[in-house]
Amino acid sequence: MTTPCTVAIFDLGMASPFRLPKSVHETVRVTKSVPDAILAGGSAHFRKEAPPLEEYFRKLFDAHGPQHWWPGRSRFEIIIGAILTQSTSWTNVETAVRNLRAARLLTPLAIENIPLAKLAMLIRPSGYFRQKAKKLKTFTQFLFSAYGGSLTRMFRTPTPALRDQLLSVHGIGPETADSILLYAGEHSVFVIDAYTRRILERHGLATPAHSYEDLRSLFESNLPRDPQLFNEFHALIVRTGKHYCRKTSPACTACPLSAFLPQSATR
Ligand code: SF4
Repeated sequence: MTTPCTVAIFDLGMASPFRLPKSVHETVRVTKSVPDAILAGGSAHFRKEAPPLEEYFRKLFDAHGPQHWWPGRSRFEIIIGAILTQSTSWTNVETAVRNLRAARLLTPLAIENIPLAKLAMLIRPSGYFRQKAKKLKTFTQFLFSAYGGSLTRMFRTPTPALRDQLLSVHGIGPETADSILLYAGEHSVFVIDAYTRRILERHGLATPAHSYEDLRSLFESNLPRDPQLFNEFHALIVRTGKHYCRKTSPACTACPLSAFLPQSATR
């Protein structure tokens, strides 16, 4: 069950003219630190004072620059990638997508028409290929039944309604739905993944008790609602998770976020 959002908000001046990648320093307005009640009734482990999320973004952007996400040549290819990347590495997804491209299947109509077994064989490198083939088919069935096969029409739907619709499609969970909304549709939703959670928890900004929706609200309530910012920030978080904030033996000394790590942090 989704818990109601209990994320407190600190004022960033939501009319912030945030634009990327032009000049982060000129446009991000850093105001207050994260207050002591991000989570009402929160854990005793919750950090009393922490830098604003923009500071986290700024550190990462300064260190690594734009990430040019999401890798994909079209909106539909991004959607395919968002579904195939579940429980596997991106390298495996790339192989599967290459197979689909070679077979000229990177359109909703082509996925709709190909036999399920043949589709499964082509995406085999992505793992769980039978389930994922069904998921791709289910998504295109939804797209045709609700929007006549048009991604343009689909993405014109207001964000909350479209998010609900995507979440009702078999095989699409919150992370996949939000990846589709943000990276294929440029809707202002923040994608939460395991890397995001790990970094927030290690920095005392969340606890394991917090739901996906709690963490999504943390970002969406405390940053300007700019899809370009959300795109870049999440991509930078993934890079940080892969290269520094590993599950075991995090490389804190070399990490751009090391200055924000509380002394008491669990590493
Ligand atoms: S590697 Fe260390 S400093 Fe970097 S995000 Fe993880 S916990 Fe923070």
